[in-house]
Amino acid sequence: MKTVGLKCTKCGAMEELRNVYNCPKCGGILEVEYDYGTLPQSLSTPGATGIWRFLELLPVNQKFCTTLGEGNTPLLKASQLGAVLGVDNLYFKNEGCNPTGAFKDRPMAVGISKALESGAHTVITASSGNGGASLAAYAARFNLKSVVVVPVNTPLNKVNQAIMHGAKLVKVNGPYSNSFHIAKAAAEKFGWVNMTTTFINPYTMEGNKTISYEIIESLGKNVPDWILMPVGAGPMLVGIWRGLLDLKRMGLIEKLPKLAAVQSERCSPIDRAFREGEREVKSWEGECNTIASGIADALNGYSQDGTLTLKCILESGGNVVTVNEDEIWESVSALAKYEGIYAEPTGAVTVMAVRKLIKQGIISSHHTVVSIVSGNGLKSSMLSPDIKVEPPVVESVEEMEALMQS
Ligand SMILES: *Cc1c(COP(=O)(O)O)cnc(C)c1O
Ligand SMILES: [Zn+2]
Repeated sequence: MKTVGLKCTKCGAMEELRNVYNCPKCGGILEVEYDYGTLPQSLSTPGATGIWRFLELLPVNQKFCTTLGEGNTPLLKASQLGAVLGVDNLYFKNEGCNPTGAFKDRPMAVGISKALESGAHTVITASSGNGGASLAAYAARFNLKSVVVVPVNTPLNKVNQAIMHGAKLVKVNGPYSNSFHIAKAAAEKFGWVNMTTTFINPYTMEGNKTISYEIIESLGKNVPDWILMPVGAGPMLVGIWRGLLDLKRMGLIEKLPKLAAVQSERCSPIDRAFREGEREVKSWEGECNTIASGIADALNGYSQDGTLTLKCILESGGNVVTVNEDEIWESVSALAKYEGIYAEPTGAVTVMAVRKLIKQGIISSHHTVVSIVSGNGLKSSMLSPDIKVEPPVVESVEEMEALMQS
């Protein structure tokens, strides 16, 4: 599909495809605009793998496609957890199976491809951890210098990942938004490509479209009624929505799924606007101190990101749900115990959100529901509150036998 340029979601101004971050005229979010008259006939390109099967629907020149094997993640039917929650057709899209353990590899693969196309030498991202680990891995593989800016409380395993891949990693005090602004200023000052996966880089979000292509490819005629996902600023949600609209234009689906965003009660600016019937999201004043650190985004200074996300939620007829700290751990535990999926806390939040939407009568038992598990449990270095005692040490089968009976 041909690209036309970058279009401002606020004032409609068009920009050429290049490294430009917000609308030069009004500061609005830029999105890739395509000529939909040139939509491909089929969804995927034979012979290609992972997200690059959808190259025809992405703004990348084939010569610059970069890959670590992202995409093609399993969509697992959750029969046991479905029965517990009361949904017949519940699926989990396990994005923890991506090369660096989170869905961020999809936006990074696209963003890095565009950065290489533009002749970049250094890339930078602000990140709650996963984006930085992903950027560092792609940069290592494709010979770019990478700089990663994370909040001081970022989980150790994510920090280790980025550093092991050779990133120059710096920490910033305060919530994620502080890291966002430092990375932005550094990119401007040093001429680095800003790969921050909010909405600042117009290409990264395009990679998230591939999540919806894969879901529809897997489910065929059984188009989900609901797709739930963890949401910070929301580029995953907006990307999934853009992907679904592509599928509808191509005639591959007739109805559009409703999208539900899940936020942590301790940082839920999009939820607040949704509850209050506001169209405009305001930044969050609280501390955002939640175990779901991957979605702890106060949107300080870029609340328009939340507004764009909310717009897509409303367009889909969707919903917004918050979960508290106990419910987040309950979600991690339920995924692990019933479905064999180990998720980081942020990645699991949709589980208890499904339960809430069922209780409210918004999701019903015959609906087909897809939940995105956005990140791998190996990413978090915290001991789960489920683990209350040290595992016992035994020296004989007899001792073991005694333990098995208790
Ligand atoms: C980045 C991240 C999110 C948040 O997604 P957004 O699209 O930025 O709102 C959710 N889960 C995990 C594991 C993440 O790393
Ligand atoms: Zn504009």
